[in-house]
Amino acid sequence: MLSPKSVETREDAAALDERDPLAPFRDAFILPQGVIYLDGNSLGPLTRAAKRRLVEAVEGEWGEGLIRSWNTADWINLPHTVAAKIAPLIGVSAADLIVTDSTSVNLFKVLSAALDKSAGRQVILSERGNFPTDLYIAEGVAPLFGATLRLSDDVMADLDESVAVLMVTEVDYRTGRRHDMSAVTARAHQLGALVIWDLAHSAGAFPVDLEGAGADFAIGCGYKYLNGGPGAPAFVWVAPRHQNAVQPLSGWFGHAAPFAFEPGFRAASGIDRFLTGTPPVLSLSALDAALDVYGDVDMNLVRQKSVALGDMMIARADARCPSLALASPRDQAERGSQVSLRCADAYPVMQALIARGVIGDMRAPDILRFGLTPLYTRFVDVFDAMEILAEILESGVWDQEEFHRRAAVT
Ligand SMILES: *Cc1c(COP(=O)(O)O)cnc(C)c1O
Repeated sequence: MLSPKSVETREDAAALDERDPLAPFRDAFILPQGVIYLDGNSLGPLTRAAKRRLVEAVEGEWGEGLIRSWNTADWINLPHTVAAKIAPLIGVSAADLIVTDSTSVNLFKVLSAALDKSAGRQVILSERGNFPTDLYIAEGVAPLFGATLRLSDDVMADLDESVAVLMVTEVDYRTGRRHDMSAVTARAHQLGALVIWDLAHSAGAFPVDLEGAGADFAIGCGYKYLNGGPGAPAFVWVAPRHQNAVQPLSGWFGHAAPFAFEPGFRAASGIDRFLTGTPPVLSLSALDAALDVYGDVDMNLVRQKSVALGDMMIARADARCPSLALASPRDQAERGSQVSLRCADAYPVMQALIARGVIGDMRAPDILRFGLTPLYTRFVDVFDAMEILAEILESGVWDQEEFHRRAAVT
């Protein structure tokens, strides 16, 4: 049987698509003609369901229902309704998960809560290569608790008994390297530290089992693999044993009785105290609808295809683009759902690729990053993308002046 690593022709790739059990899901997405989209790890595409739902939410619920829709369209429960659809993807009970605010803001809440729970310890340990917003938020939170942020290149080696909170992103945004969540959590707990997992590149990409790993806190993104749309709200999960922690963004939605309008704050019990202000209803509605596609998906099949797409992309890059070095782990067990290639001219090369309809992204200084999203990415897409990349490199077309011009968002 043909293996993804031994694909040599477009017909080979098409044969893998023929027997792909996830192939029918592609129809749920609205993908522009002539585009090979390999950036769903940064912004998931529009689903047919989300498009319909947004029209309904704007015209019917907002336009006609007006303020009554908080009750009649159940806007008030959206942070829970949406959480119930994400919970099975990350291995938690829906009662401990809430969807609201951004990943950055939710990180502020759980990092504060974790420090509140860590009497006597004052070190936040994270990775030098973590996504910048995570490090920036930690820089902002640390002085509020008299804590310090310590950066590491190897958190397993650098964990010690001074660490209050280990804050890690499961899948590295640059390289796609994936941590062993159970092993890291167990080691941190052994040394008396709490762990915050950032699941920005995990949720919807492969099965996650937070409860199985004994995790403490987690946050993650709604607009990447979950396809909620630009700026979609994020999720925050807190293990029941930590839900009594103080979270200092104590807005009225986190109050025990928001509509009693009491002058003093009394925190809601359970996960609700991790709410802050009025939730973003239109964005939640889009995310809610987009998540329906996951209702019928076996996440083990998603992982299997993700790994196969990655193995094939690496084999094709080795064969066709030998000047590029692989920045992602070759071993599939250590990889998330992306493949990154090192290229000294990553910016203009990615611009040239985008001009040919292959959309990935570039991460400074030298990474060409390709997200693999099994619900709509085909094996032929990956095959074609690597052929086009090879042509661009061989012809030198990437060096034209237009491809060197920088836009605000890279
Ligand atoms: C994408 C991403 C974020 C995004 O945070 P926002 O608050 O949505 O801007 C945070 N952390 C990681 C690791 C990410 O990859």
